[in-house]
Parts: sequence; C-alpha cells; structure tokens
Amino acid sequence: MDLKSGYPFWAVKNGLMCKFPQLTSDIHCDVAVIGGGITGALIADELGNHGFEVAVIEQRDIGWGSSAASTALLQYEIDTHMVDLARRYGEFHAVLAYRACADAIMDLRNLADELGDVDFGMQESLYYASKRSHKSVLQEEYDLRIKHGFEAQWLDAGGLKEQFGIKAPGAILTRLAARVDPYRMASRLLLRLAEQGGRIFDRTVIDTIEPAGERVTLRTEQGFQVDAGHVVMAAGYASQKWLKQSVAKNRSSYAFITDPIDPSDLGLLASTMVWESARPYLYMRTTGDGRLLVGGDDDDMDIPERRHRRVEGKSRGLCKKVKKLFPELPVKPAFVWGGTFAETEDGLPFFGAHPQYGSRVLFAMAYGGNGISYSMIGAGLLRASIEGRQHPLAELFGFSRTG
Ligand SMILES: Cc1cc2nc3c(=O)[nH]c(=O)nc-3n(C[C@H](O)[C@H](O)[C@H](O)COP(=O)(O)OP(=O)(O)OC[C@H]3O[C@@H](n4cnc5c(N)ncnc54)[C@H](O)[C@@H]3O)c2cc1C
Repeated sequence: MDLKSGYPFWAVKNGLMCKFPQLTSDIHCDVAVIGGGITGALIADELGNHGFEVAVIEQRDIGWGSSAASTALLQYEIDTHMVDLARRYGEFHAVLAYRACADAIMDLRNLADELGDVDFGMQESLYYASKRSHKSVLQEEYDLRIKHGFEAQWLDAGGLKEQFGIKAPGAILTRLAARVDPYRMASRLLLRLAEQGGRIFDRTVIDTIEPAGERVTLRTEQGFQVDAGHVVMAAGYASQKWLKQSVAKNRSSYAFITDPIDPSDLGLLASTMVWESARPYLYMRTTGDGRLLVGGDDDDMDIPERRHRRVEGKSRGLCKKVKKLFPELPVKPAFVWGGTFAETEDGLPFFGAHPQYGSRVLFAMAYGGNGISYSMIGAGLLRASIEGRQHPLAELFGFSRTG
C-alpha cells in the first residue's frame, strides 16, 4: 500500500539518505526487526546497543514509509486527555502513560544529540480550546496535570491574545515538546547500527512468519530465510494485516510546509508548536530553518489513489485555517502531502506479544498522534520483554487491555 501522497518534505529535502543491500542468503540473528521506519530504527538501535545481534528488514528503502510523511511534533500530550485515560484505566495508569511520553522526549533529545544534524529542537506546546465549550474540559485537564507534577501554564483568552495573537477561550502552554526530522533520524540511527555491526536490508519483503519452539523463521518473498530468537513487527500500518484481531483504524492526515518565514513574522511560533482541542485537530510547528509545517484535516481515507487527489484541496483548507488564526502571517504552501496513520480506540499504542503468534513475535504498533514518542517508549518496553524483565507499561500498552 502506498503510505504517502504528494511531496513529503523530508523526502524532498534529504533525498535517499542510505542504501542497504537486499537479503540474498539465509541468515541467523538474535532479533529480526521487520520495518525500517522510525519505530524499527529506534527499537533496533536500543537492542543493538544492549548486545543483541539485530537484523532489520525493510521492503522499501529505509524510512520511506509513513516516517517520511510525519510532521514529527514530539509531545508528551497524548491525543486522549489524561482525564479521559484516568476515567478509563484509573489515574495511576493515565499518569504513567503521560510520564512515559514526557521521558520519551528527553530520550529522543539525548539520541538526537548523539546522532547530530537531525533538526531536533526543543519547543513549547500550546494547546488551545477550539470552542467556548472546550474551555472547562481543558481546565480540568490542566488541573489533573498540575496535580501530578507536570509542568504547564494556563492561559486565559486575554493572555492568549496578548502572547500569541490567538483568539480562543483558553489554552494549556507546556515547555516540554520538541521537533525532529523523522526520516533523517531513522536513517542516521540505522547507518550507525550498520557501522556497529547490525545488518540492514532494504527492498526485501517478509512474506511469512513461523514461530516454532525457541526460534522464529521468516521467509522473504525472494525465498530466503531469517532464523531469529525474536521478531519485532515494526511494519507500521501494515502490521495490522498480520493480525486476525482488528486493533486500529487506518486514517489519512494532510500537511504542507512553507518556505522559510522571517523570524519577526513568526514571533513565538518560531519556538512554539500549536494544536487545538477540536477533533480532527489543526497542528503546526516550525523547522530549524524557519519554515512553518502545518497538518490536520484528517479523514478516514485509506485508498491511496483517492488520497492523492485530495492533497491539494486539503492543503488549501489547512492554509485557510492558519490564516484565520494568524491573519498577519504570510503563509504559502511550498510542498503539500498526505500520509497514512492509524488510530486506536483509546489513543494508546500496542507493544508486545499477541496470542496469535506466541511470546517470540513482538508487535510495535506506535499508532496515534504522537507515534514517535510511543516508538521511543516501545524500544525500552520491547527490550525488557526480550530480556524477560517486567516493564511498567507492558500491560497498559499490551494487547491484554483489549480484553
Ligand atoms: C501526515 C502525518 C503526520 C504525523 N504527525 C505526527 C506527529 O506530529 N508526531 C508524531 O509523533 N507522529 C506523527 N505521525 C505518526 C508517525 O509518523 C508514525 O507514528 C511513524 O511514522 C510510524 O513509524 P513506523 O516506523 O511505525 O512506520 P513506517 O514509517 O511506515 O515504517 C514501517 C516500515 O515497514 C515496512 N514494511 C511493511 N511491511 C513489511 C514487510 N512485510 N516486509 C518488510 N518491510 C515491511 C514499510 O515499508 C515501512 O517502511 C504522523 C503521521 C502522518 C502520516
């Protein structure tokens, strides 16, 4: 399935950053990771750094799936409010999930520092109420976050207008958020892994998975075998086709990026990402070179040919929304695109074994608006699982929560 439409900026900006060989013989490894997007790259990196012999197998080129289309706002704020998660799973678990996402941003920052040159930058995050009726919902959310020690500031309509020029009933402003070039980060992680002895193969499709006893055998479309102690299924949205159980719905999100904008015109937007309480929400952030990256207008389109046709119109709609919010800002799309993402019913990801395959095949379904933060958490979670250790989020982020 074609995961992206139009011209995703990271692909245009970076070109093809790395090329790896196809798999042309049978191999053995400790862990085989299916999928070389940001999820597979973060997990393979974590495992490689902890002594595992890892092989990554990617059917396209590395990072060329939905990771190349991601707008990559890195947030601790999950699409599902902490208040709603608390109602569903209890306050303890809601806080655990939010705290893990907060930690993930710092982990991503450390990784970005090690790798260098991945357009990582810390930003603030402004979450505004789209309607008057959403103000009390956001205030309740703010109160719960403060109660549990999360750093956040409440802005009323006056403060919001004064600081950001936005006309809205209120907003939560937090300091802990970041941006990254996700394609560059995935590529650099896997290039580093290859230098350290990890094996990476691209243009190699995994066709079958057969767990048997202590090992798992993968077969490629070309007929070669991968014999592994564990398999991590980090195939992005394609992971779902390996499960009989339906755990998420595929959707499309749309985005555009401008040419660099003068910092005096960007004002606080240069260091603040902005999103809203409406669903689907409008979201935006800047890049290191001062471009404005805007996304949203998500729909349930799952047919690539139809999504291709929607990209231009969606970009015009998004542009109109930004102009309404910031009438003075010179906004003109330079590149427009759309991409597949998936949503689970509760906004949480799935990491871990599924009964259909037993304990040696681990799924890494980093689905949701902050999929990249989830992937970072998943790296530690799946390593713990492979090492036979408990992880505090194994249950909440596991398939057992579906009952
Ligand atoms: C427009 C858009 C905006 C987004 N914005 C954000 C955001 O602001 N913040 C955020 O955190 N997240 C965001 N996301 C979500 C984020 O992009 C995803 O969580 C992330 O890219 C998923 O990475 P992945 O590695 O799991 O999937 P992918 O990047 O799709 O990688 C999976 C790889 O597996 C490979 N594969 C599949 N099947 C096989 C097989 N059988 N054999 C071999 N290889 C296979 C595919 O070719 C693919 O390259 C956004 C997504 C989109 C589309």
